[in-house]
Amino acid sequence: MTTGQTVTTGAAATGSGAATWQRDASRDLLNVGGRLALLVRGEGSHVWDADGTRYLDFLGGIAVNCLGHAHPVFVAAVASQAQTLAHVSNYFATPPQLELAARLKRLAGAGDDAHVFFANSGSEANETAIKLARLHANQTGKRMILSLEHAFHGRTLGSLSLTPKPLYQDAFRPLLPDVGYIEPTISALEADVDDTVAALFVEPIQGEAGVVPLPDGFLRRARELTAAHGALLIVDEVQTGVGRTGSWFAFQREGIVPDAMTLAKGIAAGFPLGAMITFGDHDLFYPGTHNSTFGGNPLATAVGNAVLAEIEDADLLANVTARGAQLRAAVEGLPLVAGTRGEGLLIGIMLTASVAGAVRAAAQERGLIINAPTDDVIRIAPAYTIGDAEIDEFTTLFAAALSAVAASDPKEAA
Ligand SMILES: *Cc1c(COP(=O)(O)O)cnc(C)c1O
Repeated sequence: MTTGQTVTTGAAATGSGAATWQRDASRDLLNVGGRLALLVRGEGSHVWDADGTRYLDFLGGIAVNCLGHAHPVFVAAVASQAQTLAHVSNYFATPPQLELAARLKRLAGAGDDAHVFFANSGSEANETAIKLARLHANQTGKRMILSLEHAFHGRTLGSLSLTPKPLYQDAFRPLLPDVGYIEPTISALEADVDDTVAALFVEPIQGEAGVVPLPDGFLRRARELTAAHGALLIVDEVQTGVGRTGSWFAFQREGIVPDAMTLAKGIAAGFPLGAMITFGDHDLFYPGTHNSTFGGNPLATAVGNAVLAEIEDADLLANVTARGAQLRAAVEGLPLVAGTRGEGLLIGIMLTASVAGAVRAAAQERGLIINAPTDDVIRIAPAYTIGDAEIDEFTTLFAAALSAVAASDPKEAA
């Protein structure tokens, strides 16, 4: 029985009448977590809870709110497209959908032979890519789909099958057959990418694993080996894509071209939208083999166009790179900080002890939203629009949270 159970996700939850909203949440929402606060409003890099407490949002809806909250460009795009045409089903094309497909192809440096499918989430974008891998497998007699240890590709049964984490997978077996996991090392690539492999799925930086970059040269070697063995290289840029690392797409930093890429999170800055792009002649679909009722509707794709245009027009990629470097320098040397990793504004802050949960909670108590993807890593993924004021506020609040945790356990402070 779960009725009447007290919700104790994370540390002290806050927000108006905490007891009331938490009781409502326990009663009415599926028991999957997510009760840290009752947020009611956002503006720029700040959000407010129902008590009026202001938080600096450096999680950005998990690398989604790339323009911050209530950005005028986002608001105008939603309003004007909602007044024009919001949804028509996948029997029809619409101008915003065609424009966004062309824009993504241009930004990805893809040729005319690239094709785009729009979905509503990262998991669905990856489902589409898994179906692409299955089409390729069935056409070639290959069998295996590989992903990496510590990968996160989503929660639907297909994408979950590529996400080798016992807590996520074990209660849901059986999963997809013919899936294998390899260590993210070049020697594992060389050992396991062979003629049985239909596709290899890779995140350029493993965000959910704690912002873990791939080893140097990994993507280039993966490209060589998949090409040599006729396997598809599918890059999951759901978290790293659309500028988060300071490049439009992280694969572009490695000088490779994948066979397919998946996107979601930041692509429409908070409006649900996912996409899969095939490169080269890898669109193996034909009518009837795949679709989505909401996928690519004019409302979502109009917002995607406006967001990507704003990132270009305001030269936000340069800001992502500069502010990322500034933030990494700012946290070096703070109590409990062992170092940083990541690219641009996808940053993992490694701690000297397994206290990331306590640091996250101490930060929230001080008005700072961050998260703890693992026991000893804090992740930040703020808006691309941040400046000195947000960085100064972050550094002050984060240092205070770290000091409080260090002081609360003398052995951690060492
Ligand atoms: C978040 C994420 C997903 C899943 O996206 P959803 O929109 O939650 O379905 C897939 N892959 C990566 C790399 C992600 O970060």
